[in-house]
Amino acid sequence: MEPVSAADEVVDICRDLLRIDTSNTGDPRTTVGERVAAEYVAEKLTEFGIEVELHESAPRRANLVARIPGADRSRGALLVHGHLDVVPADAGEWSVPPFSGEEKDGYLWGRGAIDMKDFDAMTLAVVRGWQRTGYVPPRDIVLAYTADEEAGMEYGSQFLVREHADLFEGCTEAIGEVGGFSYTVNDDLRLYLVETAEKGIDWLRLHAKGRPGHGSFVHDDNAVTALAEAVAAVGRHKFPMVITPTVRSFLEQVSEALGIDLDPDNPELSIAKLGPIANLIGATVRNTANPTRLEAGYKDNVIPGKASATIDCRTLPGQAEIFLDQLRAVIGPDIEIEHVSQQAAVETGFDGALVEAMGAALRAEDPGARTVPYMLSGGTDAKAFSTLGIRCFGFAPLKLPADLNFSALFHGVDERVPVEGLQFGVRVLDRLLQAS
Ligand SMILES: [Zn+2]
Repeated sequence: MEPVSAADEVVDICRDLLRIDTSNTGDPRTTVGERVAAEYVAEKLTEFGIEVELHESAPRRANLVARIPGADRSRGALLVHGHLDVVPADAGEWSVPPFSGEEKDGYLWGRGAIDMKDFDAMTLAVVRGWQRTGYVPPRDIVLAYTADEEAGMEYGSQFLVREHADLFEGCTEAIGEVGGFSYTVNDDLRLYLVETAEKGIDWLRLHAKGRPGHGSFVHDDNAVTALAEAVAAVGRHKFPMVITPTVRSFLEQVSEALGIDLDPDNPELSIAKLGPIANLIGATVRNTANPTRLEAGYKDNVIPGKASATIDCRTLPGQAEIFLDQLRAVIGPDIEIEHVSQQAAVETGFDGALVEAMGAALRAEDPGARTVPYMLSGGTDAKAFSTLGIRCFGFAPLKLPADLNFSALFHGVDERVPVEGLQFGVRVLDRLLQAS
């Protein structure tokens, strides 16, 4: 048999995973494929003698965890995690069928190609490569493949952390999405963004109460009016700018690399010049609150006694309490606030041996690589794993073509991963895990 390298195999594994439809609709009744994908992963690992544990949080909501013993078992373990679910795709909008795993124009196409079956495939290819040669990593590596990352993580990482925390015993650091991808400055310089922080999530419901009544009368206590005023005020409000250590470091380093003058009093001017990554960074300099749902009334001529709205709030590390005071000042004293779902922000420093190893692994494969820390405005499984005291990083290495609008591919139409970038990623990941 021909020797198989991780770089060869990663493409096949990624294609296989893309062909398993793991659409997570947010409704357990219509969410599919997580069990099938987890069984596929299990097969890829057990084939080489790696023991796996498969845990379902609900029927077919499968999560898989495996531990590869390292040479020095007294050292803290490294958790390497990826989710198996994807957001749904509307085939009518795509150039190729979204679950075909088609390869064309140098890309593998399909829902999940960058979010995040690419990294799932890389991790499998790397450890299978080790098992073939008998390589033992320096410390324990814990692999986790989760369900439900795309709809709140309740059936995935949150379940694992709550019910099976023992599987992560001794894990001190973790890598997963969203980071490690390149942003080209010029031929000789590519910035690789490493996620070291995530904003917190606070989904709130605002409730206004009033006096019910007939729609034909003069009425000065209308719940719909009160709610609408509060929602409009929140939607138009710009919360004060707060530059956290991660964002400050990002802005300084990126400004220096791009030769942009950074105005510390007005970093948004600098951010606007960042092109395709401006989107990614723009929401990390302040708390945000976006109204997303409204509910009131049941008949055209009846004034209801209550009305409610959902606000999607994202808070910077350390800002959750301050944010609530700020929000209260915007909506006034009479609106009731209900917390629907809350997950704390996470932030870790851009320092230590693992961070240095990330830079070294990238530079070994791309001499023009420079790592830069950044904060993600969204949320990932890192939120759950960090509650176990694990330092979480977004590092799923990918070298991208300079002109690819990467952030637009997340949950986007025609999601695809460059085949060369995927093979680059597997080599970087292999180096990193061997050096960690
Ligand atoms: Zn993801």
